[in-house]
Amino acid sequence: MKPLSEVDQLKNQLREQETIYKNILEGTLAGYWDWKIPENYEYLSPTFKSMFGYEDHEMPNHPDSWQKIIFQEDLPKVFESFGAHVQSKGEIPFHAETRYTHKNGSTIWVYCRGKVIEWDEKGNPLRAVGSHVDITKLKEVEEAAKKDSMQLALKNKELEQFAYVASHDLQEPIRTISSFTSLLAQQYKGQLGEEADQYLNFILDSTSRMKSMVNGLLEHSRIGHEKKLVIVDGNALIKQIQEDMKVSITEAGAKIIVGELPAVAGHETQIRLLFQNLISNALKFRKQGTPVKIQIIAEQRTDEVQFSVIDNGIGIEEKYKEHIFAMFQRLHAKTEYEGTGIGLAHCQKIVALHGGSIWVESKLNEGSTFHFTIKQ
Ligand code: ADP
Repeated sequence: MKPLSEVDQLKNQLREQETIYKNILEGTLAGYWDWKIPENYEYLSPTFKSMFGYEDHEMPNHPDSWQKIIFQEDLPKVFESFGAHVQSKGEIPFHAETRYTHKNGSTIWVYCRGKVIEWDEKGNPLRAVGSHVDITKLKEVEEAAKKDSMQLALKNKELEQFAYVASHDLQEPIRTISSFTSLLAQQYKGQLGEEADQYLNFILDSTSRMKSMVNGLLEHSRIGHEKKLVIVDGNALIKQIQEDMKVSITEAGAKIIVGELPAVAGHETQIRLLFQNLISNALKFRKQGTPVKIQIIAEQRTDEVQFSVIDNGIGIEEKYKEHIFAMFQRLHAKTEYEGTGIGLAHCQKIVALHGGSIWVESKLNEGSTFHFTIKQ
């Protein structure tokens, strides 16, 4: 046998390498195409064809084959992206997400990408190659998630509207109960017996509490109506809040230490309410006999800012760390510390509206740190 010439040896090596690459490509379950533009011949790999339910011989190696089964409204997308790729001399990548009709009638989503690998001396494309990946499953999951989140948003809106209407409409009867009970208590004081006076006082107490809760609920359903995003200067905001809360801060003898706070993009009234609630809790849940010290710090990350409000108050037991963020949940009797248990629920809603999260770290009898993040 005649020994192979060097050229033939090289050719053989090339052929071998091509077989390896083809097998690797097919092994990834991606189909591939190889378009010789002047001849308008387009090799379509077996996986390319089986993605749409066709045997190799059922689909000619020609651009018409795929152009017949692609959704016609998706075709311009392919041409546009390929046109841009050619125009930019390959700078702009060619890729497109398109739909095809499978032999069995179902829809197949495909992610196609490719590039021109040969140009003539005038800069016209001669040959382009690329891959085809079936992304139907991914699209189905994406669609389902989109539908779920739309339904969830709708449900949330309904709930919010319900809370708004209910709390709004409840205000009137509560007002009536409370004013007639006050009248009864005033006009018949001492005439109905000591017990009756006491009962009337209980009713008054409860109605006033109910009023606060309904107002809180109404306020809660209103959070989020503010649509304007502004740049909020953290330090300026805390300064204003300290001014507004001067009486309670002085009364608690509190020392507030504020670190370097960055400016954040957010809804100003909401962020103000958020800090106000956390600071007023830090003042309210202070430890007897210990001078109140509150520290406010921030840490800037690439896509969010984390704020922390640190106090040296009574602390929170580990098991209640999540519970306290729920509506009307409190850990103490109203005689011990006043409040309705809605402040932290407000905070949680505000933080969620800013794409962040809120949590607490605490040690009973030592103090608590409330952390929250604001997405930027
Ligand atoms: P409220 O202050 O009206 O009770 P919140 O929703 O603001 O309602 O707080 C819920 C509960 O979480 C409080 O009743 C209290 O038990 C606990 N809590 C909140 N902030 C602190 C804090 N800084 N230190 C200790 N406990 C706290």
